[in-house]
Amino acid sequence: MLSVNTALAAPPPLSAVQADDRVLVVAPHPDDETLCCGGLIQQALAVGAEVAIVWITDGDGFEFDAVVVEHTLRPRSGGLLRLGAQRMREARAAAEMLGVPTDRQYFLGYPDRGIAVMLDTSFEHDYRSRYTGASTVPYAGALSSGAAYTGANLQQDLSQVIDGFEPTLVLAAAPQDLHPDHAASGQLTRRILEARGELPLLHYWIVHAGPHWPQPRRYRPLAPLQPPQIAALLSWTAVPVSTAERTQKLLALRQQHSQMRVMAPFLESFVRANELFAPAAP
Ligand SMILES: [Zn+2]
Repeated sequence: MLSVNTALAAPPPLSAVQADDRVLVVAPHPDDETLCCGGLIQQALAVGAEVAIVWITDGDGFEFDAVVVEHTLRPRSGGLLRLGAQRMREARAAAEMLGVPTDRQYFLGYPDRGIAVMLDTSFEHDYRSRYTGASTVPYAGALSSGAAYTGANLQQDLSQVIDGFEPTLVLAAAPQDLHPDHAASGQLTRRILEARGELPLLHYWIVHAGPHWPQPRRYRPLAPLQPPQIAALLSWTAVPVSTAERTQKLLALRQQHSQMRVMAPFLESFVRANELFAPAAP
């Protein structure tokens, strides 16, 4: 495994976030914002930078999660929509814990586990979620509530957030991330920024990198987070996370009750001595 020595790493470019920076975190699901970037978000806000989070989905396709939360073995579409609404509230609570103001929290409400297909084969045609049964954005608090589930509409909504916020730094999932929603939302972000001539603003993070990463898969706040083998070719920078920032990151994670109930050890394994980011531009 490629190793990064946090003590000896070159000065991380992301630690130089300035007061006039505007950091946009692109989170495929509620909880990703905290896992990838909870430390950096706090650091950016502490120096006076603006931070916004955009959630691509509300995480309404996680059946096992709905099984636990709804106390039923066969969650129906209504249960999954309630789960989505709950995860939206949890994401808001987590973002608040990290210091991100409500008016910088953008929910797009596109279908969990449908992002890759929607962007690929349903770019112009309506996509129907096989989890919730929805074919339009079903959440009242979403940016374009009622918009058809198409790749084009998702692209338009994410572009609208980027146009409005005018980020100087964008943090999105690496193409190597094994969750299809993650890789696809990272690719979409890349496409939008490339079209604007702003690819250098994009830095990648990774959350799903195989069953053996992170190691160990439990709460080890003092251990470094090492780059995963499957994304070893990216130029990772380890951004140190202080004790106070780690504590707050853990508190933010604990707002995501629906997730913590089913996968706490995995989630807590991201509360580490550092976070990892890699530039998208060569
Ligand atoms: Zn995710």
